[in-house]
Amino acid sequence: MLEKLGESLKGTFERITRAVFVDEKLINELVKDIQRALLQSDVNVKLVFELTKRIKEKALNEKLPPGLSKKEHLIKIVYDELVKFLGEKESRIEIKKKPYKIMLVGLFGNGKTTTAGKLAKYFMKRGYKAALVCLDVWRPAAYEQLLQVGKNINVPVFGDPKEKNALNILKKFEKELKKYDILIYDTAGRDALSKDLIEELNKIGKALDADERLLVIGADVGQAAEKQATAFHEACNVNGVIITKMDGTAKGGGALAACAVTGAKVKFIGVGEKVDDFEHFDPKRFISRLIGMGDIETLLEKAKEAIPEKKAEELGKKLLRGEFNMIDLYEQLQAMSKMGPLSKVIEMIPGFSQIKLPKEALQVQEDKLKKWRFIMDSCTKEELENPEIITGTRIERIAKGSGVPASEVRELLKQYKMAKKMAKMMKGGSIEKMMKKLGGKMPKV
Ligand code: GDP
Ligand code: MG
Repeated sequence: MLEKLGESLKGTFERITRAVFVDEKLINELVKDIQRALLQSDVNVKLVFELTKRIKEKALNEKLPPGLSKKEHLIKIVYDELVKFLGEKESRIEIKKKPYKIMLVGLFGNGKTTTAGKLAKYFMKRGYKAALVCLDVWRPAAYEQLLQVGKNINVPVFGDPKEKNALNILKKFEKELKKYDILIYDTAGRDALSKDLIEELNKIGKALDADERLLVIGADVGQAAEKQATAFHEACNVNGVIITKMDGTAKGGGALAACAVTGAKVKFIGVGEKVDDFEHFDPKRFISRLIGMGDIETLLEKAKEAIPEKKAEELGKKLLRGEFNMIDLYEQLQAMSKMGPLSKVIEMIPGFSQIKLPKEALQVQEDKLKKWRFIMDSCTKEELENPEIITGTRIERIAKGSGVPASEVRELLKQYKMAKKMAKMMKGGSIEKMMKKLGGKMPKV
């Protein structure tokens, strides 16, 4: 289902995860990725541009929430906006009374009859007693088809193939139908939303006093779902949508987004011809699964993952050459944060596991590392590459941006200078000198 869209969006998130910098260039690339992916899924151009505009604005202007790096923040923005794009919140059917009446409406061939069976099974599995009612008095074989559907899942089917007036069918079974928890009414469609269909559906809806009027739309209509959902909502007061055939078309993204824009809640999706190919629709879960990365937490974890091995190797070489800038320091800190809390990292060093370091001291160190990451997130690329330019007003700006006092920024700069000095000394090969500087002694061998 929507494999292509999933692949593309996955690529988008991977691009963020891999990036060293979150800058306008990266954001522009992302925006292009997302536009391409959604347009291919038949999402309306205007909707696509509105979405990517929002993502871009937020990514460039929104204040970094505490505890998130720039990268994590960007992932969160893209993820949240995509979820919103598909309607944000799930909408569940709550069985508030018995019998609970669900009326399915929609055009020919969109999957109403098939969906009636799927819904009945869905509720049966949850312990409800369900029945199907055929109100399609248009198609000669409609009753037969529903009968077959009911037989497959062991659900009684009510209807009368000879009756030409749906209201008479309702009257005929009125008493008997009261015995059920859930009644699913299959209605007749037309090729298009015509006046007589509207009249028919409204008449049935009133007589039935339906608790839910659900529009069944095939995903293959793509962005045209917007027009259909709006028209059915206005004419027949539908209060939810079921999108079928999500399995058989690349246009499903378009249909989902189109429904979300009308405010119609997509309650279920059909993902195949079989009766179990049916799912409750939750935008959050849907997006997570589409990009195959679990929930947002897993996604954020990925962003925290260490620098690939190759980068670590590069860093080692740089150190040996005496080249070292704040980007390297930043990457080092990120790699460290991936290994876990400092106390854990220290335990991993041979010989250190026995030494008991005061917990408070470690905590202080840990907090410091976190703050440094925030500070570096507020630096421009130029500043990280060439920290010598960070003076006066730049320090003030960075302090404000990262929410730490200017003294912390200065301390980080001091640390950086020390690390750089060390790197230079390593280049000179004078480990002894370096140890002295650190206040240690070379062991005699
Ligand atoms: P109705 O005219 O609205 O009652 O539509 P039907 O229930 O008769 O379905 C029309 C066709 O769509 C049938 O061939 C179904 O098997 C097929 N169909 C319905 N739902 C799905 C679905 O979720 N996936 C796929 N692949 N086919 C479906
Ligand atoms: Mg039908």
